[in-house]
Amino acid sequence: MLNKHESVEKEKPQSNSKKNGVVKNGNGVNGHTLMDFSKIKTGGKFLTNVVGSEKVFCKELFSEEEKMIYEAMKDFATNELLPLSQNELNKKDEKLIRKLVEQMGELGFLGIDVPEKYGGSEMTKTGMCILAEGISFCGSPSFCTVWNVQTSIGSLGIIWYGNDEQKKKWLPGICSGEKIAAFGLTEPEAGSDATNSKTTGVLSDDGKHYIVNGQKIFISNGAWADTFIVALKIDGKFSSIVVEKGTPGFDIGKEEKKMGMEGSSTVPLYFTDCKVPVENLLGNVGDGAGPAFCGLNIGRFKLGASAIGGMMLGMQHAVEYAKSRKAFGQSISDFGSIQDKLATSAILTYTLDSTCYSVIGKQTEAINELDKNDPEYYVKQGNTTEQYIAENSIVKVYGSEAAEELIDHCFQIYGGYGFIEEYPMAQAYRDNRINKIWEGTNEINRMLCGRAMITKALSGEIGFKEYLEKVDVYCNNGLDSGYEGDLKTEVECVEAAKAVYAICLNESLSKHGQDIGTEQVIIENLANILIYAYVGDSTLSRVIQNKDLYVQKNQVVPELCAKVYTAEQGIRVMEYANKILNSIYDGEIPKELESKFAKLSKRLSLSTDTIGLKKIIGEKVVEAGGYPVQSF
Ligand SMILES: Cc1cc2nc3c(=O)[nH]c(=O)nc-3n(C[C@H](O)[C@H](O)[C@H](O)COP(=O)(O)OP(=O)(O)OC[C@H]3O[C@@H](n4cnc5c(N)ncnc54)[C@H](O)[C@@H]3O)c2cc1C
Repeated sequence: MLNKHESVEKEKPQSNSKKNGVVKNGNGVNGHTLMDFSKIKTGGKFLTNVVGSEKVFCKELFSEEEKMIYEAMKDFATNELLPLSQNELNKKDEKLIRKLVEQMGELGFLGIDVPEKYGGSEMTKTGMCILAEGISFCGSPSFCTVWNVQTSIGSLGIIWYGNDEQKKKWLPGICSGEKIAAFGLTEPEAGSDATNSKTTGVLSDDGKHYIVNGQKIFISNGAWADTFIVALKIDGKFSSIVVEKGTPGFDIGKEEKKMGMEGSSTVPLYFTDCKVPVENLLGNVGDGAGPAFCGLNIGRFKLGASAIGGMMLGMQHAVEYAKSRKAFGQSISDFGSIQDKLATSAILTYTLDSTCYSVIGKQTEAINELDKNDPEYYVKQGNTTEQYIAENSIVKVYGSEAAEELIDHCFQIYGGYGFIEEYPMAQAYRDNRINKIWEGTNEINRMLCGRAMITKALSGEIGFKEYLEKVDVYCNNGLDSGYEGDLKTEVECVEAAKAVYAICLNESLSKHGQDIGTEQVIIENLANILIYAYVGDSTLSRVIQNKDLYVQKNQVVPELCAKVYTAEQGIRVMEYANKILNSIYDGEIPKELESKFAKLSKRLSLSTDTIGLKKIIGEKVVEAGGYPVQSF
């Protein structure tokens, strides 16, 4: 699903010369004078800020209330849902689903973003990430989908863009769980190209209704939902409207037979001269992008965040199995190869965890700066999250791919039993596959991420031009970012990746100009470098920030995860960069650029003993019986 602002083919990055911030000394490398962009709250700034220069939000910073929310959701998922995850929750039993959703409503898990006056609990955005992680301990990605749709794509359009009457009408039921919510965007001819909607609404002669005709497909929660946020064209303009179950002319089709997510409902919707009251339109005619795509932006964040708990659970299953399974006279958990897989799983989980909470922390800070008394407050919330499209897409892509890698390793630890339905890995393997497709395919999300950064770079918003000057100095002065502190080698490795990104982007823009948006494979490779830079930055920042706490708690795993991730993935940055440069220069890279890259390449190739460090991490996973990091 892709929005009008997101259309990869049509939209080109806009350039303007707007300058933000004030001139300040000492923000740069080696005393270089740079613009100070630190006051601007916007996405993409991780590129131009040195690792550790900003505090990142992470579990170790949870307030008492946040810890309580985390424990409450985790308890609910573990005690109420996990026992049902392999059988009952796969039966699409509407009565059971409604009962559980209502239970979640009573516990306050559904109204996260909703003001109290409409029945919600209006938590901070960090609460949203905490709940997304917490619910995924339920072992049923299908049920996580029910919750995710209810609290993001199925309701955010109303919360952010609905008027008071609309909020009063629909939100209390959604928060209590009495009503189930769904979201209809995809159509047979409009998937990634979502604004190509063929569903139309025509104002009735008496001006009281929109007469809706068309079809939606693959709608999650569809068979059970009471309210549907539906995207459509009115007078040719992309709009969003709420359609209630039972509206004449609105029919719900048969359940799709799927390869996974057995317990979630996925149906087509049909509209045949369906009379929807005009009062149900969200915003004005033509305002459809906000309700449709801002919700998606958060939906994709939640998708990544909800991988964390599932990954911890997967690791727990795998260790339990590995300890009990004997081969060659010993537990397979003693084998180096098995421990290496468990170590990789822990690294994927710790790095994803660090990334998600850092991203939500940044968005929460930006939202906290909004004036709550501003009548446009909720619209502005939605728009603020749009500033973080690149980061949310990184969470979605990294989360779905990290989960895929982890599941594959855990599956392998089960050997043949992994393939047998009675064991948990087969379902996990199938269920996770959809995560690379929905909420925007990973191809589309890489484009979104790559293109959002290009727009930010060209607009002057993140100080990219100044950063490029800094990179020049950096390359000529022994590749020293000026960072002083622990994990210096690793920090310089991530800083080198950012420098490589900046140079590659600059070269790509010189070659392709405004058409860079259409050079998809270049953008994908640029996005891969950015993903490494963001994940590396958040992970290292978290470890550096919590050094004393980790020492106090005798936790060695976080630092080892940061070291191994930086080293193992850093080396891949040059692969992406070489592909980009060889494409631009047809294999004949200019000497000056080549020598710059030779230096950067050295910084990116660390001599870390990853085998040795992973052995320690693997042993810790076995010892802990699962994910070995305790954050609080
Ligand atoms: C189980 C399930 C539940 C779903 N739930 C919902 C829901 O609740 N609500 C809803 O509205 N939708 C839902 N969807 C739809 C889902 O979001 C879409 O399937 C997804 O966005 C991809 O669209 P598509 O299937 O039409 O694929 P297409 O858009 O046809 O894509 C096919 C391939 O082409 C690639 N591609 C397409 N365009 C480009 C481009 N510009 N550049 C590069 N590559 C491109 C894609 O990455 C993909 O690999 C669901 C789907 C499934 C399977």
